Amino acid sequence: MSIVDRIDAALDRLTDQQKTGLAIGAGIGAAAVLGYCAHRAIRSRVPRSGKYPSNTLPTDAYDAVIIGSGPSGSTCAFYMARGGARVALLDKEHFPRDKYCGDAVCTPAIRILEEMGVLKELVDHNEANFADSGGFVSPSGLSYIGASKERLGGAAACAVKRTHLDMRMAHKARDTGADLREGFEVASVPLFDAQTGLWSVTSAKGETVRGRVLVLADGATSRMAMQMGYCTEPPKGVCSRAYVEGGTHNADFDGVCFYQRESLPGYSAIFRHPNDELNYCYYLIPCGKDGMCGDVTEADLKRLHEGAIRHDPFISRALGPKAKVERMKAAALRLGSQGVPRSYDDHLLIIGDAAGHIDPLTGEGIHTAMMGGKAAAATIMAMRKTGNFSRASTCQYERAWMRAYGHDFAYSKRGAELIYKYPILLDACANEMQRVGDPMMTKWAEVMTNMRPKTYFLRPDVALPMGFALLRELWAQRIAKRPDAYQATASATAA
Ligand SMILES: Cc1cc2nc3c(=O)[nH]c(=O)nc-3n(C[C@H](O)[C@H](O)[C@H](O)COP(=O)(O)OP(=O)(O)OC[C@H]3O[C@@H](n4cnc5c(N)ncnc54)[C@H](O)[C@@H]3O)c2cc1C
Repeated sequence: MSIVDRIDAALDRLTDQQKTGLAIGAGIGAAAVLGYCAHRAIRSRVPRSGKYPSNTLPTDAYDAVIIGSGPSGSTCAFYMARGGARVALLDKEHFPRDKYCGDAVCTPAIRILEEMGVLKELVDHNEANFADSGGFVSPSGLSYIGASKERLGGAAACAVKRTHLDMRMAHKARDTGADLREGFEVASVPLFDAQTGLWSVTSAKGETVRGRVLVLADGATSRMAMQMGYCTEPPKGVCSRAYVEGGTHNADFDGVCFYQRESLPGYSAIFRHPNDELNYCYYLIPCGKDGMCGDVTEADLKRLHEGAIRHDPFISRALGPKAKVERMKAAALRLGSQGVPRSYDDHLLIIGDAAGHIDPLTGEGIHTAMMGGKAAAATIMAMRKTGNFSRASTCQYERAWMRAYGHDFAYSKRGAELIYKYPILLDACANEMQRVGDPMMTKWAEVMTNMRPKTYFLRPDVALPMGFALLRELWAQRIAKRPDAYQATASATAA
C-alpha cells in the first residue's frame, strides 16, 4: 500500500469531529506560515518613496552630518562624497592627532584603504609595515612565529600609526568632496526638526550644521549615543598602549600575540612599525561575571601591562634590557555591540566603536569600523534616491553590517568564553602550528582578521586535526608533565 493510500485509510477512520479539528489545525498552521512570510516580506521591503526627495534639501544643508572622523566616520564620508552626496565630517580634534590603539590594520581594512587610495599614500610615505613574520605564544608558552604573506598572497595585517592613518583617511574624504570641520566639538545633543526632516548639530563654539541624516561615529565612549539614549552602558573592555623606540629593542618579528593565562581571554601584542618602533599593548576582554575580564578587571591593567614588560619571558626577551618604553596609556573597548541594542533610527545611524563594532574575541575594530562606515554610506545613498529616511530604510544598514561581520560577534563571544575556560585550546592551536607550520598559522590569521568566519574552526578538515592536537596537548601537559613557560611569569607578576 502506498503512503497516499495509507493516509486515505487513516482519514477514513476519523470521525467527522476529528476531521473538523484537523482541518482547523491545518488552517491555523498555514495562516501562521503565511503570516510569518508576510511579516518578513514587509520587514525587508524598503519604502520606495518618502517625504524628503533630494530637491527638498536646502542648499546650506548636508545629506549627512557625521560626528567623528575616525576610521568609521571618514570611510562613510569618503563613499558618500564619491557618490556625489553633500556630507559634513566633524571632529573635535585637529589632524594629525593620536588615538590609543594597537595600530594593527587587518585585511578587510587594507582592501578598503586600497579602494580609497589611502593605502598608496601610506606606502609612499613609508607609514605602513606589512606583517610577514608573525604568530602567537599560547598560555602554556608554546610559540610559533611564521610567515603568512606568501601563502595569503598579501599580509593579514599591517601596522600603521593612527596619527598617520586617521589623518590620511580624513583628508582623503575631504579631498573627495566632504566638508571636513576640524576642532568642531559637538557638546550638546543634536536636535531634529520633524517639519523639515533636518538635524541641527551645534559645536561648543556655537557653529551649526544641518543635515538629513545624523551619523554617530564618535568612538567607544560615544557621548552622543549615550546622551541620546541609544547606548545604555559604558564600555566594558579596555586596552593599554605604549610605543617602544626603534633601535632600542630586540624584536625580530612583525607582530606577535601573547596569551598570558592570568588575563585570558585577553592578551598582549607587539606590532612593529616601518621605522622599527614597536607598539606594545594589552587587551582586557569582557568575559564571565559582569565587570570582569576573565579573572581580572580594568584595575589590573597597569599591573599586567608593566609586569609583562619585566617578567614575561617572551616579551622581556623581545624588548631587551635597553628598550625605551613609553608610559602606558589606555582607552576603552566596546565589543560586540555591547550596550547598543539598535544601530539605527529615523534619520540616524550609529557606526564603528560608537555602535560597539569591535570583535569580542580579538578586540580589533578598525576594519569593522571601516566596513560599517562603507555600509552606512551605501544605505544613505540609497535613501537619498527614495527620499525615505525612516527606520524602515535605515534598518538596511543594520542588516548589511550583520551580514558583513556582525553575525560573527556571537561566535567570537563564545570563543572568548571557551579559551577563558579551556586555555588548552590555544595550546592545541600552537601545537598544531608547530607540527604543520605556516598553513595552520595562515588559517589562524585569516579567522582572527575576519577574512573567514569563526565557524571555520568547526569545519571537519580544521576541527579534526585540532582534535588530535588537543589530545597531544592533554598528554604533554597532564601525563608527560611538560614544564609551563608562563607559570613562573604569573607568580612573579603577582608578587
Ligand atoms: C588601546 C587600544 C588598542 C586597539 N588596538 C587595535 C588594533 O590593533 N587593531 C584594530 O583593528 N583595532 C584596535 N582597537 C580598536 C580601534 O581603535 C577602534 O575600533 C577604532 O578606532 C574605531 O574607529 P571609530 O572611527 O569608530 O572611532 P574612533 O577611532 O575612536 O574615532 C572617533 C572620533 O570621534 C571624535 N569625537 C569624539 N567625540 C566627539 C565630539 N563630541 N565631537 C566631535 N568629534 C568627536 C574623536 O576625536 C575621534 O576622532 C584598539 C583600541 C584601543 C583602545
